[in-house]
Amino acid sequence: MALIENTPRGLYCPAGDFYIDPWKCDNSMRAVITHGHSDHARAGCATYLCSPSCEPILRARLGRTITTQSLPFGLAHELRIGDALVALLPAGHVLGSAMIRIRRAPGTTHAATPHDDGGTWLITGDYKLTADGLTETAELCSCDTLITESTFGLPVFRWQPDAQLRLDLNTWWHQCQQLGRSAVVFAYSLGKAQRILTMADSSLGPLLAHPAALSIVQAYRAAGATLPEVTLATPQATSAARAAGTPALVVSPQSVDGSAWLTALGPIATAVASGWMAIRGTRRRSNISRGFAISDHADWPQLLSACRQTGASRIGVTHGYTAPLVRYLIESGTPAFELATRFTGESPQPIMDTSDAADAATGDSPDP
Ligand SMILES: [Zn+2]
Repeated sequence: MALIENTPRGLYCPAGDFYIDPWKCDNSMRAVITHGHSDHARAGCATYLCSPSCEPILRARLGRTITTQSLPFGLAHELRIGDALVALLPAGHVLGSAMIRIRRAPGTTHAATPHDDGGTWLITGDYKLTADGLTETAELCSCDTLITESTFGLPVFRWQPDAQLRLDLNTWWHQCQQLGRSAVVFAYSLGKAQRILTMADSSLGPLLAHPAALSIVQAYRAAGATLPEVTLATPQATSAARAAGTPALVVSPQSVDGSAWLTALGPIATAVASGWMAIRGTRRRSNISRGFAISDHADWPQLLSACRQTGASRIGVTHGYTAPLVRYLIESGTPAFELATRFTGESPQPIMDTSDAADAATGDSPDP
């Protein structure tokens, strides 16, 4: 029996009787969660183990009544669950995001050969290696079997440094202000929205957020993150900022595009913040006026760097451009395989996740 199995409900560790980011939950299941995005954290499990800073985000997304247990980052805090040892390392994707290292507790027996067992596993979840000043910076460790995401697993994906992205964002905001328009940036409510808010130059004008993004701002603060002053985006707030000659920057999920809520904000210009904006065709096909190639996922050089740094002797690749990365790794001499999961990473079009859609469809949204 392998240490980790891919089951219809998600990745499962029989030795510890727990699932990693299960996509089908019931109240008998114990989940170990990499991060709060909706394709990784789903409601209905009996218990959720996650990092301390992920905990308030999970509660904001899955409900106050879920049963959670937090495990501090670091190999020194390794936790025994049944016959498995579990440790969390920062993944650098969104606040509280974790890579999960799993190994069999010494002295415990298993039926398979060590080779079949896969040795020590590291499951990345979603990650990026560069520091963004808001999220815990990623840490890798050595492992035998690495399961890596590959959302942007093509050589064309190479992110600009944050300083350049910040300059581009604030230059565009200033241009919008000169036209008397609020600058609306469409971004995931969890992670990207908060990153945009920290990149924005708040001396230019007020920072406003859609309720879905604002609730995660509050969860970030509850987890100890420092964010600039952000208030709820309302017609009154955008109007007051325009009257003062400093139109606001607004972050919002793209699900509001074309809605009465957005129209009520008055004159706007729109942009999308997504790694997919690195591809010219994606920008051309959309109606938005500007695209910022800002992603919380590893780009191609980072994916290769992570594979190298772990020293893994076999690598499973999941979601996104799995085939090109697997082919590259095999041609480079590392056994690699595609692993089918239901994780979606950062979806290309529209730039929204199912939680954003759910947020827009519930009372969280002021859009009638
Ligand atoms: Zn994610």
